[in-house]
Amino acid sequence: MDTLEEFEKVKPRKPLIFFLIPLAMLAGVALVLVSLYERERPQVSIVSDLARIGVHATAEIHLGDRRSGLQSVEVLISQGKSEKRLFEKTYPRQGLLRRYGPRKASERFGINLLPLKFRDGKAVLEIRVRDYSFCNWMAGNLTRVRYEVMLDTRPPLVSRDGGSRYIIPGGSGAVAFSANEPLRSYGVEINDTFFPGIPLTRQGRGGYGVIFAVPHDTKEITLARIVAVDLAGNRGEMPLSLVLRHSRVKTDRIEIPDSFLDRKLPEFRSYYPELQEIEDRIAAFVEINNRIRKENGARIRELTSRVTPEIMWKGRFLRLPRSSRRASFAEHRTYFYRGRKIDAQVHLGMDLASVSHARVPAANDGVVVFTGYLGIYGNTVIVDHGAGVYSLYAHLSQIEVREGQKVARGDLLALTGATGMAGGDHLHFSVLVHGVFVNPLEWWDENWLNLNISGYLR
Ligand SMILES: [Zn+2]
Repeated sequence: MDTLEEFEKVKPRKPLIFFLIPLAMLAGVALVLVSLYERERPQVSIVSDLARIGVHATAEIHLGDRRSGLQSVEVLISQGKSEKRLFEKTYPRQGLLRRYGPRKASERFGINLLPLKFRDGKAVLEIRVRDYSFCNWMAGNLTRVRYEVMLDTRPPLVSRDGGSRYIIPGGSGAVAFSANEPLRSYGVEINDTFFPGIPLTRQGRGGYGVIFAVPHDTKEITLARIVAVDLAGNRGEMPLSLVLRHSRVKTDRIEIPDSFLDRKLPEFRSYYPELQEIEDRIAAFVEINNRIRKENGARIRELTSRVTPEIMWKGRFLRLPRSSRRASFAEHRTYFYRGRKIDAQVHLGMDLASVSHARVPAANDGVVVFTGYLGIYGNTVIVDHGAGVYSLYAHLSQIEVREGQKVARGDLLALTGATGMAGGDHLHFSVLVHGVFVNPLEWWDENWLNLNISGYLR
């Protein structure tokens, strides 16, 4: 009984296997067919903003197809009955059996509107993407996406509402202007420097304002213009007639006594350990006065190049109270050691001396953006006053504010000292416009400020 039952149980297995093999083959073929004839469409996304297309635009699109991969893409633009092709590409088959296209692709292409001879106004951008599916008589699955776009080939028209006519080397200036359409970016170009602007309110009249500067060593102004770029990327320009008025160059002779080196070299060596390798004291001084000065300058430029789009200052900038001026802006300093010339640098601020550890007030309303040790500047505070204007306080003995803190004109920032490259207790005060050191005299003068800066921006 037992054996018979077992025999009968085993017997049907053979035909089952014979039945299963073709079934598996059929299923395999079906699977292959299903994958070859898959109906999943490719995906398209536009990365760049193409709502408004200017004379020259760049488009970036991302494509994807998870199953049979990408076969081709075509980008067309049409207006009325006219249709032009902007871009097309066919992807080669890949893989061992060369059955699939790439799963992903991103394409960048330029759009040059002028040869298309379309009118400014509405147009339709269409993207067609096919995959390598056998569907649709081997043509593949098709995704068609249509976007309504606005063609705009006209540059913005700029009108100057007022601004500086004269500027000195190391001086500041401002200009206000309006445009006949919204702008994406704008500013003033002087020689090879771009000064970004801010939107103005001007009692509801709107427009834009730019505060600019020319570096102290500027010999001539070869280019000065307002630059305005509209939302479609079209660039409009307007020349600025800006006259450079030269001022006399001041010079100063600085003796470096041994007592100064005795005091200062240990301080610098503690912040810059690499100086310990320079045994010669004068060589170490020259290294600090050049390489470290340059590094500190670059850091300051970085800290003062951000533009807060709001004018925070009110009225003239404060000067350290009850102080006398020990050195001026753009003084050409020659350094001597025991009568021998060892170095030359330009002084980019005002040195003001009062009693030692005098209270240093904020020159105007703003936000503290830096507090800390900054090489030749010693302990330093930098305040952002908005629209690209910053003030800097150096050689401090003690700092009383923290980064991010809002300060009002006259608020205590710090106490004067002699940290960094300072012989005695004093305040080194600098004003910067978009990272360019400018003459603080102009910013201390209420009349000058009203006539040359604030008057145009209100
Ligand atoms: Zn100084």
